[in-house]
Amino acid sequence: MAKTVLILGDQLSRDYISALGTDSSLDTVLMIEDWSLVERKPYHRKKIALVWSAMRHFRDQLREAGYTVDYRINASIVDCIEQSSEPVVCIEPREHGIHTILLNSGVNFVTDPYWYTSKGDFSNWMNSRTQPRLEQYYRMVRLQTGYLMDGDKPVGGVWNFDKENRKPFPKNHQAILQPYFVPDKITEDVMAIVAQIPNLTGDLKNFSEPVTRDAALERLAWFVEEALPDFGRYEDAMSAHDMYGFHSILSPALNLSLISPAECIDAALKAYVTNAAPLASVEAFLRQILGWREYMYHLYDWLGSAAWDEHNALHATEPLPDFYWTGETQMRCLRTTITDTLRTGYAHHIIRLMVQGNFALLLGVKPAEIRDWFWATFLDAYDWVVTPNVIGMSQAADNGLTASKPYAASGAYINRMSNYCKGCQYEPKVFAGAEACPFTTLYWDFLIRHENTSLATTRLSTNYLALRGKTQEDRDAIAARREQLKHLMASHQL
Ligand code: SF4
Repeated sequence: MAKTVLILGDQLSRDYISALGTDSSLDTVLMIEDWSLVERKPYHRKKIALVWSAMRHFRDQLREAGYTVDYRINASIVDCIEQSSEPVVCIEPREHGIHTILLNSGVNFVTDPYWYTSKGDFSNWMNSRTQPRLEQYYRMVRLQTGYLMDGDKPVGGVWNFDKENRKPFPKNHQAILQPYFVPDKITEDVMAIVAQIPNLTGDLKNFSEPVTRDAALERLAWFVEEALPDFGRYEDAMSAHDMYGFHSILSPALNLSLISPAECIDAALKAYVTNAAPLASVEAFLRQILGWREYMYHLYDWLGSAAWDEHNALHATEPLPDFYWTGETQMRCLRTTITDTLRTGYAHHIIRLMVQGNFALLLGVKPAEIRDWFWATFLDAYDWVVTPNVIGMSQAADNGLTASKPYAASGAYINRMSNYCKGCQYEPKVFAGAEACPFTTLYWDFLIRHENTSLATTRLSTNYLALRGKTQEDRDAIAARREQLKHLMASHQL
C-alpha cells in the first residue's frame, strides 16, 4: 500500500528514507517549507537560508534518485497532512512542539536510528538513579558501544583528559583557515527570499554553510585533518581574534541530519588509530557527540516540555539586556562574542556557556528569555538543543538536574581563558567601583543573593569559602556597584 513519507526540515538523511521503508515506485516523499515558522522568533537569516537551502538540495537529490517528492513552499504542515489520502509516516521528531502536532494529525512514527540510546533505555537508566549525571551516562554508552574501550577499561586508563585539555591559546596563536562553501543557485534563490523577510536577526553576508551531505562530509574531513589534533588542548580557549579556535562547526549540519553522529565519531576514532590525532582530542570530541549531545536530547525528551518551561529554580526575574540583540556594550568579551554571533549565527560552547550564558546567569535573567535568544540567533539551535543546554546547564534553572553546579564565573575565569580583558575598560580582578568588571561584581552578588540556599552548603560550597573573606564593607560596595550596573544597562552605557 502506498504511503506518504514526511521528511521534516531537520531530517535530511537518506538513512531516514531507508528507515521509513520508502518505496520509490509507490510512495511519495512530502517536504514542507512552513514559512509561518519565521513569524514565531526573530531567527538568524543565515539559519533560515541554511534550512531551506538544505531542504531544497535534499529534494533534488531524492528526485534524481527516482523518488517522487511533493515539495510544498509556504504551506501549513497540518493542512498538507490532512490533504494526504495515504497514511503518513515520519521519523519521530526531536522537538516536543512538532511531535505533538504530528501525533494529533495521526502521523505514524518510526524510531530515529541516529540516537545511540533508546527512549526506553534512557528512561530506565534515569529511574534507576537518584542523581543522574552526564559522566555516568557517557561511561555507560562508551561501554555499550566499545568506543575508545579496552575491554571494560577506557583506552589510556582514564575517562577524561581535562588536565591536558582546557588550555588558553598561546600568545602567538593564529586562527586556522576555515573551509568556505560557495553558495550555488539554489542557495542564492533562497537567500533572495530570506533577505526580504522582515524582523529577522543578522544578515546573509558571507553565507558559507554546508547545505548538502557532500559539503558536510567535506567539513568533517577538514576538521579531522586540520583542527582535531589541537581540539582537545584548546577546546575551552577563547580569543577576540579567532572565534572558532579548533572547533568542528559541524553542529548545524549534524542537527539537520546531513551527516550522522556515527560518521563524525568514526572519522575521529580513525584519526586516533592512525596517529593523526591524540587521544585527548579524540576523547574530547567523542564526549561532545556521544556524551553531551545525546544526554541533552534524552534529558529534554524524558522530562517533557511543560516541566522545562516552568523551571526557574534560582528565581531569576531580570529582562535580557538589549545589547544581546545589538552587541553594543563596553564589555569587550560580550561585545566581541555577541557581535560575532549576530554576524555568523555561531559561538563555540565555552563562549556560549562562560561568557554569553554566564552573564545572564549572574545578572539573574529570566531563563526563558536567554533560552529564546540562543534559539533565535544560533544556526544549530532547536528546542531540544537550547532548552536543556540553556535552561538546565547554563542557567541552572532546573534545580541541579542537568549539571551538578551552576556555571557561574567571575571575570578572572574569562581573563584566564581569553584575551578579551586586554583592551577592555574594566578590570577583571576588581569587584567594586567604576572600573570593576561587571562579571566579577555580579559573580559575588550572585553568591550573596543565593547565600541562604543549598548552593552555599552543597553545590557551590567551595566558591562560598572565598565569600567568607568579604567584609560587610565589601558586600555593600558590591551591592552599590550592582545597582550602578543596572542603571548603566538601562541607559545603554554598560
Ligand atoms: Fe569581560 Fe570583564 Fe574581561 Fe571586560 S574585564 S572583557 S567585562 S571579563
